[in-house]
Amino acid sequence: MSILIYAESADGKFKKVAFELASYAKKVADTLGTTVTAVSVNTENVSELSNYGVSKVLKVANDKLANFNAKAYADVVKQAAQKEGAKVIVLSATTDSLYLAPIVSVGLDAGFVPNVVGLPLSTSPFQVKRTAFSNKAFNVTEISTDVKVLSIGKNSFGLFENAVSLTEENFTPTLNDADFNVKVESVEKSSGKVTIADADVVVSGGRGLKGPENWGLIENLASVLGAATACSKPVSDLGWRPHSEHVGQTGKPVATNLYIAVGISGAIQHIAGINSSKVKVVINADPEAPFFKVADYGIVGDAFDILPRLTEKLAAFKAQNA
Ligand code: FAD
Repeated sequence: MSILIYAESADGKFKKVAFELASYAKKVADTLGTTVTAVSVNTENVSELSNYGVSKVLKVANDKLANFNAKAYADVVKQAAQKEGAKVIVLSATTDSLYLAPIVSVGLDAGFVPNVVGLPLSTSPFQVKRTAFSNKAFNVTEISTDVKVLSIGKNSFGLFENAVSLTEENFTPTLNDADFNVKVESVEKSSGKVTIADADVVVSGGRGLKGPENWGLIENLASVLGAATACSKPVSDLGWRPHSEHVGQTGKPVATNLYIAVGISGAIQHIAGINSSKVKVVINADPEAPFFKVADYGIVGDAFDILPRLTEKLAAFKAQNA
């Protein structure tokens, strides 16, 4: 019996969430007196996982899995769990894994808890803390099934190095034609930029920026901070920014260490998607903007005045402390 994680990768390399999952699973494994196995799909170098406590990697190499396909990937995870006799399967909260988790759970007749934000409070009975109601509340959920599936909220645990020795094994799950009834035909990726999913810092702009021609202000600040750029829904609806940058309840969730919101009012639907971010900085001309109620730091003022000055100061600070 081991704990299984699905270690996500992109372009043949592990995503940061893979190491977060490994860190989490290792702590749970230590409590249960077991080890962590990972399953990877088309990942070139899997050895890095051992730095975070993974003892074994089941390596799947299959061209048919070049693009994410929920049914086929769920089959991979399910068969890996069955092969290893895993009783706890840990997935991340990326879009792909959130798609996978319920399918894996049904396939394994397992209880599933999403949005888990900490180590199990107890392993017998098995109880975990999770967020609910768009991150406005926590609840403690008990899973009583033999096999348990958890999805861990992004940035809710962190990275913990814990080097162990690693066994790598090629794994060839049985995939059916029916797994590929739905196929991804093409993928368009934004390139050369930090993605919202991988970013530790996000600089986000709203309608207060007045138009797409002013986005250089957001991009300059993001560049100095090594941050990803994001936006409110109306901004992407208006075509000022791509839909991939829209965050909030109906967009991407953001759980970064630092979220800087510029010219965004702080509507409930926006806050719902960024609530899990650790530190929220708000720049808004209106001192009554609702965003200030959830901000850790706030600057009341004109973004067109503040952003260039902030970017310049941060760039100078970085240069001095390089
Ligand atoms: P506005 O509400 O127009 O706010 C602009 C802000 O900029 C104001 O606070 C203003 O004071 C400030 N400002 C203006 N000029 C300056 C300046 N020079 N310097 C600094 N500040 C300035 N929204 C999302 O973002 N994400 C979602 O996922 C989402 N989902 C939704 C789902 C539903 C079902 C519905 C009904 C709505 C949803 N919305 C979502 C829309 C949401 O309700 C708000 O309308 C939206 O977030 C407002 O965007 P905004 O703050 O950019 O624009």
